[in-house]
Amino acid sequence: MNTPEYHLYIAGEWVPGVSARPNVNPSDTSDVIGLYAQADAELARRAIAAAARARPAWAASTPQQRFDVLDAVGNELLARKEEIGRMLSREEGKTLPEGMGEVARAAMIFKFFAGEALRTPGDLLPSVRPNVGVEVFRQPVGTVGLITPWNFPIAIPAWKIAPALAYGNTVVFKPAELVPGSAWLLAEILSRTALPKGAFNLVMGAGSAVGQAFVDSPEVQAISFTGSVATGRRIIAGATARGAKVQCEMGGKNPLVVLDDANLEQAVETAVQGSYFSTGQRCTASSKLIVAAGIHDRFVQAMRERMARLNVGHALRAGVDIGPVVDERQLAQNLSYLDIARREGAQAIIGGETLERDTVGYFQAPALVTGTEPGMRINREEVFGPVASVLRARDYDEALHLANDTEFGLASGICTTSLKYATHFRQHAQAGMVMVNLPTAGVDYHVPFGGTKASSYGPREQGRHAAEFYTTVKTAYIAS
Ligand code: NAD
Repeated sequence: MNTPEYHLYIAGEWVPGVSARPNVNPSDTSDVIGLYAQADAELARRAIAAAARARPAWAASTPQQRFDVLDAVGNELLARKEEIGRMLSREEGKTLPEGMGEVARAAMIFKFFAGEALRTPGDLLPSVRPNVGVEVFRQPVGTVGLITPWNFPIAIPAWKIAPALAYGNTVVFKPAELVPGSAWLLAEILSRTALPKGAFNLVMGAGSAVGQAFVDSPEVQAISFTGSVATGRRIIAGATARGAKVQCEMGGKNPLVVLDDANLEQAVETAVQGSYFSTGQRCTASSKLIVAAGIHDRFVQAMRERMARLNVGHALRAGVDIGPVVDERQLAQNLSYLDIARREGAQAIIGGETLERDTVGYFQAPALVTGTEPGMRINREEVFGPVASVLRARDYDEALHLANDTEFGLASGICTTSLKYATHFRQHAQAGMVMVNLPTAGVDYHVPFGGTKASSYGPREQGRHAAEFYTTVKTAYIAS
């Protein structure tokens, strides 16, 4: 059977790239999903020029036109969530229910921002001067460059593309090299809407060519990036140096505190969900479990029993809880962090080994590492896989200190039945998102998402706060 080929979408046309890259299923490496066109910097510049030409037309569109485009995309994603969810699971490796859930979430994000297009607020105020009126309103930023990581192949593109278009911007979008399939399906849906030609462009390709072209081009007024800290910092340096607006969501080392008074069963479920589901490949995954001394041994034992029941396997098979790691490089990184932890004196008391299944894929047993110290690399660096470490804390105060003892600040969680500690933790956890008796991963689509410290840069994404990044404020004075 011929492997299907998928093109770039530039200026309203499907165009071939300078090469094509195979999209390989991590659950079964003999399954090549398709060949995806790769752009070079020149094709990226063509897409940027098309987006720049489309600016006036889309900026002049009415709220109703924007609503209609975004709502139609949301409806189609919902109607096709099983088919697109299957593609997502096939290329990224999260289980089919997780893949379908992500597509439904992307749909709701489009529908939310369809509504926001109708509700873009402004202010009308009297001036401090007599017979003068003041109007404060929002306008599009211009052309935005959107760069996304591999771990949420459709939700992260959705939470950048939907607000960008809702507020009247034109878009050049570069998905991660590993997961072009879901992004291509989303682009194909957008290509059938009433968007003007060039208002939305899909430019697949290497970060160093396509992403860098976005960073360098004066025609890209704003860049929204999600990915690693190293890449994010490079983008911040390059784009801010030429005065562009930048928003970055980057890494995490998210703590989950378990206090003595926690409901043990609920705490274990919260930790297992937050640390290992979606193969632990979530920027909000809880990878550092800080457990109070009075519950530590019971918690570790209950985790071991619960984890032994997790079914790791092909992402599309029924009954599988945890799919494969995304690729060989990420699997090697997970195993290497486990080696480092062992060399530093900790132990993986369960999991960590690679697993063989009836297809060749990147299967790894979720690992729980105990006997760790705060300074160990496993407690300081992002692994980005199904690996969590346990730190023992004397009491709440020490647990809070250990939770905040990190350069990152994306999500932070606590399991407790104490109102006093839950309230204090919500106030004092150094993170953009705080969860009480809930997994650190798993957020709503209609409220802000983002972190503090090294995890984030620039205004928040999602919810009404997305307007801060995707619009610029104009103040008009009118003599009456
Ligand atoms: P990555 O930084 O390697 O790549 C992210 C994107 O940047 C890709 O599309 C890549 O092609 C592009 N890129 C690479 N070099 C570039 C350059 N020089 N210029 C412009 N673009 C470039 O990250 P990844 O491995 O795809 O994703 C994993 C990381 O993403 C983890 O660190 C994870 O924590 C983070 N992440 C963060 C969030 C969040 O919201 N905070 C969400 C998901 C993932």
